[in-house]
Amino acid sequence: MSAPLLNPAESEEHQALRRAVGDLARRYGPEYFRRKARAGEPVDELWAEAGKAGYLGVSLPVEYGGGGAGITELSIVLEEFGAAGCPLLMMIVSPAICGTVIARYGTEQQKQTWLPGLADGSRRMAFGITEPDAGSNSHRLTTTARRDGQDWLLTGRKVFISGIDHADAVLFVARTEDARTGRLKPVLFVVPRETPGFEYRAIPMELVTAEKQFQVFLDDVRLPAEALVGAEDAGLEQLFAGLNPERVMTAAFALGLARQALATATDYARTRTVWDAPIGAHQAIAHPLAQCAIEIELARLMMLNAAQLYDQGHDVAAGEAANMAKYAAAEAACHTVDQAVHTLGGNGLTQEYGLAALLTATRVSRIAPVSREMILNYVAQHTLGLPRSY
Ligand SMILES: Cc1cc2nc3c(=O)[nH]c(=O)nc-3n(C[C@H](O)[C@H](O)[C@H](O)COP(=O)(O)OP(=O)(O)OC[C@H]3O[C@@H](n4cnc5c(N)ncnc54)[C@H](O)[C@@H]3O)c2cc1C
Repeated sequence: MSAPLLNPAESEEHQALRRAVGDLARRYGPEYFRRKARAGEPVDELWAEAGKAGYLGVSLPVEYGGGGAGITELSIVLEEFGAAGCPLLMMIVSPAICGTVIARYGTEQQKQTWLPGLADGSRRMAFGITEPDAGSNSHRLTTTARRDGQDWLLTGRKVFISGIDHADAVLFVARTEDARTGRLKPVLFVVPRETPGFEYRAIPMELVTAEKQFQVFLDDVRLPAEALVGAEDAGLEQLFAGLNPERVMTAAFALGLARQALATATDYARTRTVWDAPIGAHQAIAHPLAQCAIEIELARLMMLNAAQLYDQGHDVAAGEAANMAKYAAAEAACHTVDQAVHTLGGNGLTQEYGLAALLTATRVSRIAPVSREMILNYVAQHTLGLPRSY
């Protein structure tokens, strides 16, 4: 379990936030988290306490019960929870994507209905964009919203949607009937979980996490006009208001896991002795761990840069930086967990140390919300100006 990583160049407030979140998370700790995850139970007590302390809503507007800070602070919270063994995946979705989109584009009524609850943790929202036949290519989304008088009717399928069973509603991405093909012009709807025609089924996953993933079936789900978030014809901008924080937060999630794994491995390497000296005295063990520490730090700096760009309103630059930071964090996390497992030998695969569970958890950050290859495609095309390859 990793102590808060304090950097004297960071503001007093940020250091204090890291310490306070770390203190709360360590009271629960990785054993609590793994026990809940293995039992398939949500970490409701932790979520509620984090909400009450203001951590879940730190980036949401003060007038709706939030802390009035930014994605920088929210990413600090998630990173420290993960480093202390409590990676709260739903923070990526509920406050970071859904909270941000509603705060920026929601109606006054939507803000009042949702933001206070998302901020204090009493309500949760899931986010559904991925579809079975679209995958990485969001322009192939087929979930369609058509008007029926004042109402909307939503029909389609989604896959891998996290945490629906403990969410009050899902923010779904669809397209309107008159924009059914071609480049995606997304429309966003808040759909309460119990709405008739909305069904979901858990997907068996090889993950030790508190959240399950679901297939979703939307069959002429009738929604009032007020379910639409933002403008019908706003294009991609309002979707990316949520997707850039999602990438920053996925980086924070990955880096929290990486720090947890690195701390476990270094503690072990300091004391485990099978010849004359602890195994950490062998460079074959020490150097790869040192390399992981450097990779984690590189990715953290990239993540903080992306978060600050986003918070300062540089949306285009934040998009590029968030993609790069997510890539770097996922690679650092996958490498670190692999090395940590190896450092512990057989104990790397025991439930007692919990490292093997992180092998799949960190792979999630390489796949979602946008895969390693799609980020490389993006950087090749947009950063380097190379021809689009697909
Ligand atoms: C644990 C977990 C939780 C998730 N939670 C959510 C959620 O809450 N909400 C949600 O909407 N989604 C969620 N997702 C879905 C996630 O965002 C998708 O899995 C991801 O976008 C990749 O889509 P896909 O799985 O369909 O892969 P595919 O698009 O089928 O890609 C498969 C492979 O092909 C590669 N590939 C595809 N196209 C190209 C190309 N042009 N060039 C090079 N390589 C390419 C990809 O990089 C990948 O390696 C979750 C996924 C997981 C695993």
